[in-house]
Parts: sequence; structure tokens; C-alpha cells
Amino acid sequence: MSDEAMTVMNVPALPTEMSGDDIRNPHICLTPSESEWVQLIHSLPDNLAKQLACLIEADKDRLVGVFYDRLLQNPDASPFLSQDVVHDRLQHSMRGWLRRLFVERTMDVAVFVAEQRKIGEVHARIQVPIHVVMQGARLLKNEIVCQLQSQTISLGDFAVMADYVGNAINIAIEFMSQAFVSNTKSDAQTDEAYRAFALSQDVTLEREIQRASLMEWSQSVLFSLYGNRREAVLPLLSSSDFGLWLHHKGDMIFHGSPVLENIRADMKYIDTVLLPAIAGADADQNLTELIESFKNKTGEIKFLLAELFQAAAAMETGRDPLTRTLNRRFLPSILSREVKMASQNRMDLSVMMVDIDNFKRINDTYGHGGGDHILQQVAESIFTHSRASDFVFRYGGEEFLVVLIEASAKTALETAEKLRLKIAGQQFSLPDGGSQNITLSIGVSTFNGHPDFSHLIKTADQALYQAKQNGRNRTEVAIPLS
Ligand code: GH3
Ligand code: MG
Ligand code: MG
Repeated sequence: MSDEAMTVMNVPALPTEMSGDDIRNPHICLTPSESEWVQLIHSLPDNLAKQLACLIEADKDRLVGVFYDRLLQNPDASPFLSQDVVHDRLQHSMRGWLRRLFVERTMDVAVFVAEQRKIGEVHARIQVPIHVVMQGARLLKNEIVCQLQSQTISLGDFAVMADYVGNAINIAIEFMSQAFVSNTKSDAQTDEAYRAFALSQDVTLEREIQRASLMEWSQSVLFSLYGNRREAVLPLLSSSDFGLWLHHKGDMIFHGSPVLENIRADMKYIDTVLLPAIAGADADQNLTELIESFKNKTGEIKFLLAELFQAAAAMETGRDPLTRTLNRRFLPSILSREVKMASQNRMDLSVMMVDIDNFKRINDTYGHGGGDHILQQVAESIFTHSRASDFVFRYGGEEFLVVLIEASAKTALETAEKLRLKIAGQQFSLPDGGSQNITLSIGVSTFNGHPDFSHLIKTADQALYQAKQNGRNRTEVAIPLS
């Protein structure tokens, strides 16, 4: 038994009565699951907590081994776990996780929840199916309970410990799943926004087409009324080109927008109330009023349509208006797809994190306008030095992230150096007619089998930091994982 196993934390008393000062007491705003965790921790008597801690401490390597051996046999799980590097890292993390659940028994519920959520987020980024995580949890519970059964303990103690094991794992998985689901959902929304962006790159053109198509439909309704009104077949808005666009492409582009819902409601009113009333109107007086409401409703849709595009334009264009580089919010969906492709097809993939050196000084000297002008020219240079198939993102103010598709570490380094040298030797024009030299620092990182795309960004960022530390105007390559 190790010393670590003996250092089971002392259990503090549960909060009893709440006073006005308890506003600051974190226990007050706990969710039901968080309270369950706190209660669970307190429910295990000290002596049993120590016994369980010793058992897990002594058995954790075997448990982790059994867990991954079994998971690797699962065809649903093996695509995520086959890489040695992940295997080693995950084994290490899993040992830490077991210790925190059963040896340290994390008292600070916020720390505990944050850890579980972080694991859930990683699962979502790697796209491990949730049922695989559940299977793993079940396996672990069974293994630990079997181990408890082999101990010489009373039936009562066994029951209390087994109950703790089951509940602790269940609550942890519950928090992981929450983060997993919300992350997967937001990824799906970003995917959707990206698809919409790819489909409708020219938002202004799209708006004009839809406005024209709405007007065309309204003209066709009025036109039908000039003939024999009794036999007039009034075209439904929902079946018109505009209606079809709204239901499909419009829904994809503006998903969740309240303005879109208002347009839908108006469309339904026109189709189910106004058009039948117009078709069935007998007195001309009545018809004039109905046509007036028809024109008003159509006008309202036209107005809402303009509002819809206006509100969404900035968000949905997908490109940064200043530099024409991609909006950073598409990064997770693009990079995770590229990482998956690189992993499945054993292709190279690299990223470079590019940061302008001492850019604050440029702004201080030439004003924000001068800075903006230089940012645009740097972005142009990055486009020139990358291929059309690469993705260039505005990552931060004066920072760009370039995803270099099918590029090895060597190619990425060459690309980075070409760009850096080109920029260092160039005179950048300023709005007032002057010119200025600038330099870049670049961090390069290459896919090494790690399935979490954020690892690539993190290591490129570290390399960039190193480039700054080493004096700027240089490229550093991330040190691969051992
Ligand atoms: P370092 O070499 O360490 O990167 O120094 P730095 O001055 O480039 O970095 P720092 O992060 O201190 O400053 C970045 C500056 O970039 C600060 C901010 O005002 C400026 N910036 C961010 N976004 C924009 C922008 O869109 N336009 C302009 N003109 N400046 C921007
Ligand atoms: Mg900078
Ligand atoms: Mg910066």
C-alpha cells in the first residue's frame, strides 16, 4: 500500500442551516447532481473510504489495462484508441481520474465537475460515441465490484462500498455526458453554419434573389385575380420559389432566428387565411380590403426578409470583413474533419500560427487605420503563400492560423519560412503614402496521431510562444510528443 493511498482527505461537515451569509456558500447553488456528489462523498465512512482508496491505488494499473484492452476490442472504439500516443496518454489520465474519484475523492464540487466536463469535451472533440464511454464505465464498475467481492469484508461494508463505486462513476459520467452533448450540439450548429456559408457565399445576392422571388409570387396572385376570379387558383406562398427557399435553404442559413419564425407565421396566415378569403370573397368592397391586407402582409415579409439578412450578414458571412480570412468559429468543425481525414487516410496535416511582431507599436505610430492596412496586406501574403486548398483563419487580432492540408512538418516549415522571409523583406504601404517594415513569428505543428484537434492548436501556440521568446522574426516547430 502506498503512502498516497493513506492520505484520504478528512471529510468536512455538511452545511446545516443557511444564513444570509450563505449566499457566498457554493453549496447553495448546487444542481441536484452536484448535491448528489457532495452527499455521496459524505456518505462513505472514513474507514471504508480508506479501504476503498487502498484497493483502487493497488489495483489501478490493472483496472486501466483491462479497460483499454476491452475497449480496443470494440470496433466502435478502436478508431479512437488505436494510436499508441493516445493510448499512453489516456492510460495516464484514466489512472488520475480513478485516483480522484476513489483515493482523493475530490471535495471541491466545482473542481470535480470541471474535470468531468473537460473529459466530456475531449470525447466530443475526438468524437468518441457516448455508448462507448458508457460501456467503459460499466466495465470499470464490474471490475471494481468483483475486486471488492474478493476482499474479506462484511456484507454490509461491501454493500456500502459497491454503492459508492457505482454512484461515483455514474455521477462522473453524467457530467461528462452533459458537456459531450452540449459540445456536440454546438459543433453540429457550426457545421450547419459552415455548410450554409459554403452554399450561399454571396449573402447580398441571395437577399436580392429572394426579394425578387417574393415579389414575383405576389404579382402572380394579383394577376390571377384579374381573370375570372371565381375560377382563380391562387398560388400558395409556401409552394412558391420563395416558400421553398425559406423552408429549406433559408432554414439552414438562419436556423433559430426569431425573424425567420415571424416570416413563417406571416406565410402561414397568408396561405391559410388571406388567400382562401380572397378566393371566396363575394363583394368587391370586401375584396378591396382583403387585397389591402394581402399587400400589407407581403410588405411585412419583405421588411422582415431585409431584417433577417441584415442581422445574419455579419455573423453568417464566414469571413472576417477586414482580412477576408475565415471566421474562427469554423475552426473546430474544419480542423476536426481534417484531423479525422488525416488519421483515417494516414495523411500529413500541419498548422501554422502566425503572429505579427510588435504590432501594438504599428498601431501606436500610425493609428488603427494604419494597422488595419498592414493587417490586410499580411493576410494577402498569407493567401499567396498557402494553397487554395489550405484554410486561413483570423485567429486573434493580429494572429492567423493556417491549416496546411496534406503538408508534412518539412513542407510546413518551408512554407512558414518562405512567408516569414517574404514579409521581412517587404515594405508595407500605409494609407498616408508612407511605408513600414514588419516581421512575423510563426509556430508550426504537425499532426502526430493525436485525435483531438485542439492539441494541434495548442502545440502550434507553444511553438509561437517559443519563437517570441527566442527573439521574434523566426519560425519554431512544435516538439512532437514522445
Ligand atoms: P508581440 O510581438 O509580442 O506579438 O507584440 P504585439 O504588440 O504584436 O502583441 P500584443 O498582443 O501586445 O498587441 C497586439 C495588438 O494588436 C493590440 C491590438 O490593439 C492590435 N489589434 C488587434 N486587432 C486589431 C485590428 O483589427 N486592427 C488593428 N489595427 N489592430 C489590432
Ligand atoms: Mg503580435
Ligand atoms: Mg498576438
